[in-house]
Amino acid sequence: MDIYFYNTLTRKKEKFEPIEKSEVRIYSCGPTVYKDATIGNMRTNIFQDVLRRTLKYNGYKLKHAMNITDVGHLVSDGDEGEDKMLKSAREENKSPEEIAAHYTKLFFEDLKNLNLEVPEIVCKATDHIQDMLKYVEKLVEKGFAYETSTAIYFDISKLDKYPILSNLNIEDQKAGARVEVDKEKRNPQDFALWIKAPENHIMKWDSPWGKSYPGWHIECSAMGQKYLGEQFDIHTGGIDLIPTHHENEIAQSKGYCGKIPARYWMHGEYLLIDGGKMSKSLGNVYLLKDIINKGYDPLSYKLFTYSSHYRNKLNFTWDAIEGASKSLERLKNGYKMHKEGKEEVEEEVIKEYEERFHKAINDDLNMPLSMGVVWEVVRNEKKSPKFAKLLLKFDEVLGLKIDEEIKKDELKEELPEEILKLVEERNEARKNKDWAKSDELRDILQEKGYKVIDSKEGTKIEK
Ligand code: AMP
Ligand code: ZN
Repeated sequence: MDIYFYNTLTRKKEKFEPIEKSEVRIYSCGPTVYKDATIGNMRTNIFQDVLRRTLKYNGYKLKHAMNITDVGHLVSDGDEGEDKMLKSAREENKSPEEIAAHYTKLFFEDLKNLNLEVPEIVCKATDHIQDMLKYVEKLVEKGFAYETSTAIYFDISKLDKYPILSNLNIEDQKAGARVEVDKEKRNPQDFALWIKAPENHIMKWDSPWGKSYPGWHIECSAMGQKYLGEQFDIHTGGIDLIPTHHENEIAQSKGYCGKIPARYWMHGEYLLIDGGKMSKSLGNVYLLKDIINKGYDPLSYKLFTYSSHYRNKLNFTWDAIEGASKSLERLKNGYKMHKEGKEEVEEEVIKEYEERFHKAINDDLNMPLSMGVVWEVVRNEKKSPKFAKLLLKFDEVLGLKIDEEIKKDELKEELPEEILKLVEERNEARKNKDWAKSDELRDILQEKGYKVIDSKEGTKIEK
């Protein structure tokens, strides 16, 4: 079945045609790890996960890269302000590395709590300083960049067209209206590729221009190119990244190799809180942790985000989470009722539901529409395991673990407490990639007469 995505680059919904037949290459701008990720950030991560799962549902293999920005980009989208990572380090009295490690760990915990898949490639900016430097040197060599007393700037006048992703009108943008004009810059929109470090700057590296550090946009160009090639299929991020970060990634790549790095650019809209922006000053910055602490399953939040298309704004309220929490319970119960049902349904009926669901997700990830189909199946009066199986198939995309409790119950019925404990310990070891411990526990289980079968779907234990 054909897939259609809205492409920010062409401002149209387009049929998706990957560069390679079987593997789709995606780049997602990841977190800046100097602060907690909010539920707004997580909305964007959920959208990216639905994209991944939809492509897999359609039979594609994925090569998906996501960066971790652990060298802080500057406070504002322009090139002015204090480095965010250093600001947090100073405020929390920690080293930038400690700050980054702490928030990276929390970020991955959020992904896990939301049952979001970890991209195949996760790349840290600080591990790729040399790749970025080489990228900048090539831009200088090719005449797309120049040195000033403070930085290496990208010269946007060297491009045939800038901007191309956003509707920014350069002529209308008065230089200096927002940012103080740097007299050494050739064009007001020229942006820093590499920045010369002041004496007291902590994170800095040797470069042809002395001790210095990368600008914000270069990491994504360098790592995208390194792991996915000069041109890949899809680039994603939140909508705020369009006018500056993504625009400048495109500029860099066009200078580097003449190509726009991705063919499809997909952007998720913002999550609003009580109808407005989330902000520290309003005291309405919510984290996934806050939802969990109020006793809700974090997957309720995920289900809540499915109530709106990813390209529409979505308004968060606690009432809405309460509603989503009840819906999640209803969904799980619906699945259970079908699983225990005995009625016959015709293949045709199953096929029709499946097609409608598939068409909805393939239509630019239309989750509200696909959830409509899911609820029809749940509510179908005939209770049949065939419907349960269909719902499980849908859950490959929804990622709501609708069968988790039933699976746990079934396991509990079959296995004695002592064995269950060993299985749990082994699952934990495998999660931590502690293969030695996992093997050891498998041997113990085997000695006790239980066979351990590891598969893509998880671990199965048989007496
Ligand atoms: P940041 O850590 O602020 O750089 O943001 C990381 C990602 O989350 C980016 O793709 C942002 O566009 C996205 N993002 C930030 N705030 C929100 C929000 N309120 N709703 C949806 N996405 C957001
Ligand atoms: Zn990026």
